[in-house]
Amino acid sequence: MHIKSILLIITGSVAAYKSLELIRNFRKDGVEVDAIITKGGQQFITPLAVSSLTSRETYTDLFSLKDEVEMGHIQLSRKADAILVAPATADIIAKMVSGQCDDLATTSLLATNKPVFVAPAMNYKMWEHPATQRNIAQLKADGITVIEPAKGEMACGEHGVGRLAELGDIQSHFNNSSATTLPALKNLKVVVTAGPTYEPIDPVRFLGNRSSGKQGVAIAKSLADAGAEVHLILGPSQESVPANIKLTNVGTAEEMFDAVKAVKQPDIAICTAAVADWKVAMSGNKIKKSGGSPPPLILEENPDILKYLSQEASPRPSLVVGFAAETQDLEGNAQAKFKRKGCDWLLANDVSSGKVFGKDKNHVTFYPEGENWHGTKQSIAEKLTAQICEYFESNKKQESA
Ligand code: C5P
Repeated sequence: MHIKSILLIITGSVAAYKSLELIRNFRKDGVEVDAIITKGGQQFITPLAVSSLTSRETYTDLFSLKDEVEMGHIQLSRKADAILVAPATADIIAKMVSGQCDDLATTSLLATNKPVFVAPAMNYKMWEHPATQRNIAQLKADGITVIEPAKGEMACGEHGVGRLAELGDIQSHFNNSSATTLPALKNLKVVVTAGPTYEPIDPVRFLGNRSSGKQGVAIAKSLADAGAEVHLILGPSQESVPANIKLTNVGTAEEMFDAVKAVKQPDIAICTAAVADWKVAMSGNKIKKSGGSPPPLILEENPDILKYLSQEASPRPSLVVGFAAETQDLEGNAQAKFKRKGCDWLLANDVSSGKVFGKDKNHVTFYPEGENWHGTKQSIAEKLTAQICEYFESNKKQESA
């Protein structure tokens, strides 16, 4: 489904002003916008400002005789290709979950027969609250796409997760929306590796790396939202993983390898993990200073999970995707790695001078095409999901031809 028109519902969050920019961006992309602004939303921006950007009437009132005569609320809820609530307050989310409909916005959300997208924006404590988290899980279970809020400084000066997602991330759901291509990933099993591995030196110390797991978790989330059965094999990471992903936590590369092999016959494998190439021939006890020269670290090679999935797994997943974190000669090293590993696609990124590890943004080159993708890790995840949807859609078409 191609989205040409959106019904935008603006609710009472300080981020409401951002919806004006969002309307402008949608219209630049050729998407027409009708808008509803709730009473709360009108505390932050006016219907006149919204209409100036949509070039249409802005709807506010459930019982407006004029609006009902010109376009009934049922028709309004079904006329657009999709409904987007941005910003969505904790209040409208709670109302959506319980099916309340005491104003035009909530009534339209209940009456619609179109895909619904929700971009929450609220204080981080409100976002973290178990009630909100329960409601978000219920929205997802009801088939609504939640565009996850971002982390950063709040209008109130506090810091945490709850800021309205970047406008580009919101729009990417409509440019190449995984939700709109959802059937493509239904019934497909995906294994994703993410995060670092920790290789013990002795019972106390380990060799690790700076990978946060953010990009891999974002990919796992995006694929799960697009309907795939996602198995995430995650090294030590602080990232939270939603319940619609089957999670296995691991420590070492060997454990990651075993957990990957335990996922039977995946259709897709995506290796984002920063797997340690070597493990340490470990000492059974804590290594002590002996007063002499420092103890040697004897290294042994770890299994190469990506290479195994690409070249040895039987049956081989239909699509194997690798990542290459490089600090020099990105192009040369990535091309060589692409050939050596035997994967179908490779995403290469420059991780020199703290550019990527633990950060929210990424810049990758997608091989074999050599295309550059910039943006937040979430938007890169969505782009990859869209690419995967396209791949399986076109395979399906070829099979049925
Ligand atoms: O060889 P290098 O570590 O640079 O390759 C990076 C790619 O290979 C990533 O996709 C990473 O997840 C994967 N890899 C792996 N097992 C290893 C080493 C790397 O799956 N032992």
